[in-house]
This record gives sequence, C-alpha cells and structure tokens, in this order.
Amino acid sequence: MPSLRRHQNTAIDAGLRQKKLVLIVIDGLGRPLFDRAVQEGVAPTIAALIERGTLHAPCVSSFPSLTPVCLSAIATGRHPDGSFIPGLTWYRRGEDRFVEYGSSFNATLVEGAQMAINDAILNLNHLHLSQRERTVFEVVEDAGLVAASINYYVFRGRVRHPLKHRAVSALARRIGVFDAAYGPTRFHFGDLFGSERTGAKPNLGVKVRHDRHAAEVGAWLVTRDAFDLMLFYLPDVDMAQHRRGPDGALPAVAAADASIAAIVAAAGGLDPFLERHAVILLADHGQTAVRETCDLAPALADLDLFAGSLRSDPTACHVALAASNRVGMVYRLAGAPPSRAIAGRLERLDGVDVSAFVEDGAFVIRRAGVELRARRGGSDRDPRGNAWTVTGDPDALLLVRDGALLASVAYPNGLERVACLLECVNAGEVVCSAAAGFEFRDAGGSHHLGGGSHGSLSADDSVVPLLTVGLDPTPTLGPEPSITDVHALVRGHFGI
Ligand SMILES: [Zn+2]
Repeated sequence: MPSLRRHQNTAIDAGLRQKKLVLIVIDGLGRPLFDRAVQEGVAPTIAALIERGTLHAPCVSSFPSLTPVCLSAIATGRHPDGSFIPGLTWYRRGEDRFVEYGSSFNATLVEGAQMAINDAILNLNHLHLSQRERTVFEVVEDAGLVAASINYYVFRGRVRHPLKHRAVSALARRIGVFDAAYGPTRFHFGDLFGSERTGAKPNLGVKVRHDRHAAEVGAWLVTRDAFDLMLFYLPDVDMAQHRRGPDGALPAVAAADASIAAIVAAAGGLDPFLERHAVILLADHGQTAVRETCDLAPALADLDLFAGSLRSDPTACHVALAASNRVGMVYRLAGAPPSRAIAGRLERLDGVDVSAFVEDGAFVIRRAGVELRARRGGSDRDPRGNAWTVTGDPDALLLVRDGALLASVAYPNGLERVACLLECVNAGEVVCSAAAGFEFRDAGGSHHLGGGSHGSLSADDSVVPLLTVGLDPTPTLGPEPSITDVHALVRGHFGI
C-alpha cells in the first residue's frame, strides 16, 4: 500500500472533531426520478440516508442546466456570472473560437478534437473557470485539510498531478495536449489521473460503468481514512437518460445506489460510516424526454453565421450560435442586429420557449408573446431573497405575485438564473431555453431524439434533490435552495 503523505493532517487526527464529509453528486438525477426510485425501493441506500438525515425542499440547478455549468456551480458556489462557465459549448471572445466540452463527437470536430480534449479537461479548470472563486477543494485544502475528488470534471486544486500512465504522458506531449493538471491531494479522474494506486479496474471503453469505477476508488479512500472532504461523482444516471429518457433510468439509479452502498460498506456499514462521515447528496440537474429536435440556425439564415475558427473569420460574420441540448446562445459579432431582433427571430421557432437578453440595463425575458423586464434592486423579492424591480407581464416566467414575493413553479429561481447567465462574461447576448419535449441540434447536428436531454430553464430540467446527513447544526436553506448553496454548506461543516 502506498503511503498517504498527508494522512496525519486529516481533521479527526488534528482533533478538530468534525466528521469527514462525503459530497455525492449524481449527474442528471432530477427530483421526480429520485422520488420515484426511493418510492419503488430501487435506491435502498439513499432511502436509509433520507431516514437519518434531512431531505431539503426541492433544490434548483443553474441555468443552463448543463453539466459543466452545474458542476462549476457546486464547486465554486456561483452561477455562470461568478464561475464564468456558461455552457457545454460557447464562443470565446478574444480567441474567436468555440469552446466545446463535449456536446457530441461531431460537435468536437468543429474546432478540432485536440482542442476539445484540452478544453474539456485542462482549459475548463485552469483557463475558463474564474480565478476569483475558490473551488471546494481549494477552500478545504487551504484550511489544512485533505480533499479527494473522484471523476468530477471541475477539480481545480493546489497539487500538480501528471497523467497516470507514462505512455499516455509521452503521447500527450507529442500531440500537444495536456500532460498534467492541478487537483486536490487525492485526485482520481478515470484512467487519466490517479494520485494513489487503488486497484480499481480501468474504466475505458464503450460499455464502461463509471459509477462502479468510482465506487472502487471511493471504497479504497474510505477504508484508509484518506480525506476530510471526498467528492464522489456518479455520471451513469445522466448517460442512461440521454439514451433511454428519464423513464428508462431506474436501473442506472439502482447502480448509483449500489456505488454509494459500496463506500458505506467500506466503513463497515451505515452506522459506522455515519459515525465518521457526514453526507451531502444532490444532483446537478434533471432531464426531460426528447420528442422533437429544433435547429436554431435557420432562424438566423439571413445573417452570416460564424462556423468555427477553422472555417470562418469572425470579422466577416454577424453572429455566432452556440446551441447544445436544451439551451441556445447567440453572440453578436460584426454588424449584428440588435439583441431584441435576434430574440424575435428565435421566438418564431416552435422549439424555443423562453428568450432573454439585456436592454437598457434591464433583463428582458420573453415567452409566448409576453415580456417582462427585471432590474436588480428594488422592493420585489424572489424566494431566495434577491431584490428586484419587475415590470411588464410576469407571465413571461409564469411568476405568481404574493405581495412583494414573485415565485414561479414552472421556471424555478428563474429571475436569478437568467440574470446570472446574462451577466456571465462568456455568455451570448441572447439566450434561449427549449420548449417542452424539444432539443436543439448542436454544431455537429447531433441530438438525443427518443432519449433525454436537459439545459433549459424549466422545472423538469432544473429541480433536483438535496439531502444532508450529519451536518451539525442541520442547515436551514429557505424555500428554494440552489445547487450554489452547497459551497457554503461545505465551508460551514468545516468551520471555514
Ligand atoms: Zn447530460
């Protein structure tokens, strides 16, 4: 067994008395699927955790409800305005190119596969993610504790880790992709990075089960008391829904539950596990079934459309379109029409539900032919306590007014989420959210027709479970918790 260099620094050894914390993120496990899995008995470990802990009010994702955005929100506590990560694909002003974190294989070819590999792993963490925010890993390790990350995409930390396999490192240097990254002390990322030899089976290949791989690494770390914070990321529930839709994902939820059971068993069962570990369990976003696809490009057909840095000169293009899953963003380049005119073109498509842009300093949100304008500050309040001045038709977000309070069931935390995307330095000037059952085709023409997708502002894609066990005191989160609240929960647990 390799030595665990910083083992002596862990919290319990230092006499700080707080429990270790296991942060479980189940990708794509929306609250309806979570509830169904628990009710139908396919998630017995999660059900047992609910019995010992607190299942908070339905928690709300970021917008877009896409994995890179949401994992960044959990890691930094910030929506895109603070994390600077606005989507799965976006146009990088200044570099005049698309960033692509992996919408689809075809989409990665728009800027080249080599660029996509660097974007998805190295650039996301070390170039695009805001340096002004500290990740949970940085916060925990700056306090002298030890953090572990298993397969989580937003992993930025303080420790340099070379690629796990020497042959892969040599190849990476030859073809010009990254050969090292900065992560937490205990850093495990598929077959690329592994700070300890855990004996977990490789997770390469097409039919690979990432959740089982994570369980093997997680159980190894639990057995050795090797962390204070462990981020345990399970992506297979999301992948199963992309293929089969939310209704076909119960077996994947059962497998995720079994992975959690494996780390619990590594501590000797639930009671000994919870004696030494607190737990936060949540999902990053939900999913909805895709029944129709929508191509946003024809709505902009009279304009010159940027088609990637390999094929287009941005000074000769009016707009760049970044669409993926259930969200689209339009960037205004040279001589573009006003944002309102671009939104008007998009709105004519059946697949577009909500569109939004900034005009005269106000957030303009349009849906079904009606429009509201929101400004920060004023006497209106959303359920999270943000102050707004909202004018126009609240039906644009199906907001219901109760005195000063404006809340929407259909578009939860809608005002905060739209504003925080439009305020992101890397977002498009015009953003749009897909209508029920629709998915936007990405730059490679790919889609998940017949399966599931996410990314929109709607409740289906956005409402997730948030469960805490053993946090002392039990956190009170208000009527509309957000995935951005988790950063503060982690800090609160460790007294940082
Ligand atoms: Zn997904």
